[in-house]
Parts: sequence; structure tokens; C-alpha cells
Amino acid sequence: MKAKQEAVANSQAFLEERKSDLESKKKELDNIVSDTKEDEEKLKKKAKDIEKDIDDRLLTAFKRIRKNARNGLAVVTVERDACGGCFNKIPPQRQLDIQSRKKVIVCEYCGRILVDSEL
Ligand SMILES: [Zn+2]
Repeated sequence: MKAKQEAVANSQAFLEERKSDLESKKKELDNIVSDTKEDEEKLKKKAKDIEKDIDDRLLTAFKRIRKNARNGLAVVTVERDACGGCFNKIPPQRQLDIQSRKKVIVCEYCGRILVDSEL
């Protein structure tokens, strides 16, 4: 019983410590969020303005990809012969097609739109 009581006391002390850590982390996060809030609003507004000039079909596809992509990126570059989103290998012929910029090419594994790094 004594050992169990000790274990409970230790766990409680640990819990208190973690709680105060959590509090300070939450405060930190709140600060970061409020710092970036203004930029976020500006960028959202800019995105809304740009969306007007984009073909509806493409915009819908773009938003669908973004929603499903784990990192939230719908457009990625080819990096070291691989998709910048899912890191699966892109065959050389496909890379040439991407570089030619004649049509929208998507990754056959994750569906993200692939562009060359210059674009
Ligand atoms: Zn991919």
C-alpha cells in the first residue's frame, strides 16, 4: 500500500509538471497564431482574388487535391527524380512531359499536380 501511495504521489507530481508545460506551450502557440493571423488573412484574400481568374474545373480539382493531400500541398515540384509530395519515383519520360508544360500532369501515386522547379 505504501509503495502504491508513493507511486500515486509521483504520478501526480509528474502530471502537475506536464500540465504547466502544456499551459506554457499553449500560450506560445497562441502568440504564434496571433502573429501570423494578419499574414494569413492577407493571403486568404489574395487567394480569393486570384481564384476568380481560374477555370472552375481546375479550381475544383485543385481544392479536392489539397483537401486529400496529407501536407496540404496540391502543387509540388519534382525533386531528385521523385514527386515532392509522396516521394515516389517519376519516370524520365514523365519528367520531360512535365518540363514541356504543355498540359497539367499529376502524380500517378498521390494525384498532386507536378511542376518543374523553375515554374
Ligand atoms: Zn506523388
